[in-house]
This record gives sequence, structure tokens and C-alpha cells, in this order.
Amino acid sequence: MGMTASAQERETLLEQLKAFLRIPSVSTAPEHKDDVRRAAEWVRDAIQRAGIGNAELIEGEGNPLVYAEWLQAPGKPTLLLYGHYDVQPPDPLDEWKTPPFEPEVRGDNIYARGAADDKGQTIILIKAVERLMREGGGKLPVNVKFLIEGEEEVGGEHIESYVKANPGRLKCNAAVICDTEMFAPDLPTLCVGLRGIVYGEIHVQGADHDLHSGVYGGVAPNPMQAAAEIITALKDRDGHIRIPGFYDRVVPPSDKEREAWARLPFDEKEYTTKEIGASELVGEPEVPLFERTWARPTFEVHGIRGGFTGEGAKTVIPARAVVKVSTRLVADQRPAEAIEQIKAAVKTACPRGVTAEFKLIHGAEPSLVNPDNPFIQKSAEAMAQVFGKPTVYIRSGGSIPIVGVFDQALHAPSVMMGFGLPDDNLHAPNEKMHLPNIYRGVDAMCEYFKRLGA
Ligand SMILES: [Zn+2]
Repeated sequence: MGMTASAQERETLLEQLKAFLRIPSVSTAPEHKDDVRRAAEWVRDAIQRAGIGNAELIEGEGNPLVYAEWLQAPGKPTLLLYGHYDVQPPDPLDEWKTPPFEPEVRGDNIYARGAADDKGQTIILIKAVERLMREGGGKLPVNVKFLIEGEEEVGGEHIESYVKANPGRLKCNAAVICDTEMFAPDLPTLCVGLRGIVYGEIHVQGADHDLHSGVYGGVAPNPMQAAAEIITALKDRDGHIRIPGFYDRVVPPSDKEREAWARLPFDEKEYTTKEIGASELVGEPEVPLFERTWARPTFEVHGIRGGFTGEGAKTVIPARAVVKVSTRLVADQRPAEAIEQIKAAVKTACPRGVTAEFKLIHGAEPSLVNPDNPFIQKSAEAMAQVFGKPTVYIRSGGSIPIVGVFDQALHAPSVMMGFGLPDDNLHAPNEKMHLPNIYRGVDAMCEYFKRLGA
């Protein structure tokens, strides 16, 4: 009883989701500030309707957080439920088949900005609590704390400072993150690892002003050439990062993980030619593909600025060059340590005649949860039951900074139960969410809470 939604429940959910999606809560756009607040209020009201009356907005620097707690299940675990109500900008508008903030159902999908990232997933958490409240006569099988933010797409500074300042209030046994995707349709998936990041710029300075390459070429230092030498010194042609000490803390995947990844439904040729659109894959030749994208650190160059890049010819030896670079980090690397290692490696690789310095822009911790953790186990069981297939464990090469914050500040493992699909068009035109995944997501979440509370 109560495992799956009635037609009435689905219809109500769909109407409420549409109302949520109609609010253009674009967090990066100042002109949407009021809409962002309206979305926060919508979430607060929805949690109250679900049966937690103390739902409130937490004001601070930036956009409000929505917080609510229900702690009347003594002796049962406490879950911190995370989602976000802000969305990416909808541009380019003319590539949308229907307007981004006028949600439309076509087939089994709902199309709108935020459909999958993350309104269609945040509502799963709210609706699961609502159903369990109704079934339990106002009681839940576990204790819950909602923490829904409105700055996920713009750096999440408010939530990060709030979590670090309020570990007591947010104390929990595990965080449940509803903001990831399944590996393939109908394949229940738990993401147990995320990469962190260090992003910054390498500033290379040569002479104190631009020079004529005819008059001074042959003696003047060239910072563009120097920048290229530094970059190639930091990573070799086979994708090995040459920053001393960089791999020291890298935790290799377990044999169990390696075997599971080798069994994932995956076509390498299609991935190479269609998804990536390249002639071949690169990187460490001795490391399997998923390990390279999920369990190994990266070093990537994003842009090089300096010198003359216009039409025609200008014979200049530029005075400076700036290289934007990042490294993705994996457990147990620490951003603070990686930054020092990068700085030292840049200094060492810097050729004579120029100076080079690494300047940090932002960083985030990597995270990794042991699949044997009971909160992961029960989630895997609940999803397997609802989807009718064994749950697969994957990692993600990307970063969800809040997971690292929950890990470091609350010492809480994050359970990433995501119901998006790989082709949901996140951050792109025609974003969609598969409606059956929302309904099954609610079922799986209810089942998970029940198993934890049993
Ligand atoms: Zn998201």
C-alpha cells in the first residue's frame, strides 16, 4: 500500500511542478531577483503543505535558503534533504521549441528550464515527505531537515557559509542530494564519488612592455612561449600530471568498483565519435576510461590570453600572458594542498627571463562515500525495488561543492539519489525531465525513508 502514486496524486504533483517551473528563478541575472525570492517562497509553502509547518526562509548574503525540520522520530536516523530552486539562464531563447518558463508536457517528458536541474528533483523530496506524512497520520519514519538553496548555479556561497556556521542545527546521519542523473534510462543509479576542483590563472610576465620582434627578437624573453613551456611541463603527452606530489593522496577505486564499471552498458566508439565528436580518446593509456573520467585528477587549459590575436600580422613580443587552468581533484586530495603543489610546480617550470605565478579563482573538495555505508546500501535497495533492476554505483567527474561541505563541516556522507537522464539538456535549450522518473523518484524516496526507519 502507498508504494506508488495514485492518478490523483500524479496530477496534483504535475500541476504543482508546472507552477514551480513557471517562476524564472535565474540566479545569475539581477533582473530576476524577485523571481528567485518567489521560488524560495514557493518551496517554503510546498514544504508547509507537505506537513512541516516550521518551513522558513533563512536570509543572509545572497539568495534565501529554505529550511524546515521534523524531528519527532526518536532513535531514528536524521536526513538532511538537499535540492536547489535556482536555475540557469535560458539562452539561446530561439532554440527552445516551447518557451523555457511555460512548461509543456510532450509524451512522457516535461520541458522547461529547471525541469531536471533541479526543480523536478527537488519536488521529489517534498512529495515523498508529503505522502509519508499522509500515510503516517502526521508522522515520518525518519527525522528530516530540508535545506534547499537558491545559488547552486552561481557558486553557492550562502549555503556554504551557513553550513559551516551551523553544524549543530544541521547535524544529521546522512545528506540526501536530489540533483544527479541515472547512468541510463531505467537503470537505478547511485553516484558515490565526485571530483573537486582548483581553478585559477597562471600569470607570466616577461619584459615590462611589449617589444618589436625584429629589434629585440633573439634576446627578449617571450611570455607566450614560456606559458606553453610551463603548461607542457605540468602535464605530459600521455596525460600524466607532472606536478610533484599530486598523486600521493589519490585513492584508487576498489576492485569491486572497477568490476562494476566494466559491466556498465557503454559503447566506447559511440561515446568517442558521437558524444565527444573526436577521432580518438586521450589521457593516461594504462588507465581504463571511467577511471580516467571519475577517479583520476585532471589538468586542463581553458584559455590563453595575451599578445596579438587580431587579423593580419603584428610583429610583437608580448610583455605578458595569462593562462586559465583547472585541475579536477579526487579523494583524498585536498584543494589547499593542491594549490601549494601547483604554485611550486609553476615556479619550477618557469623558464629564465620571465616570472610566473598561479592565482586561485575558486576551489572545491572532492568526495567519496564507501558503497558499503548503510545509508548507501538502503538507498540502493529501495531504488532496485522501485525500478526492478539492481542499482549501479558510479562516480561523476564533475563537482557538487556542497557535497564536500557536508562531508567536511557535518561529517555526513551524501547519498546522491538522482533521477535525471543523460539527455535531459541541463544548462541547454529544451531542458526536460522524464515524468515517470519523478513519480518513481517519489516512490523510491518513500521506500528509502521507510527502510531507514524500520
Ligand atoms: Zn543542479
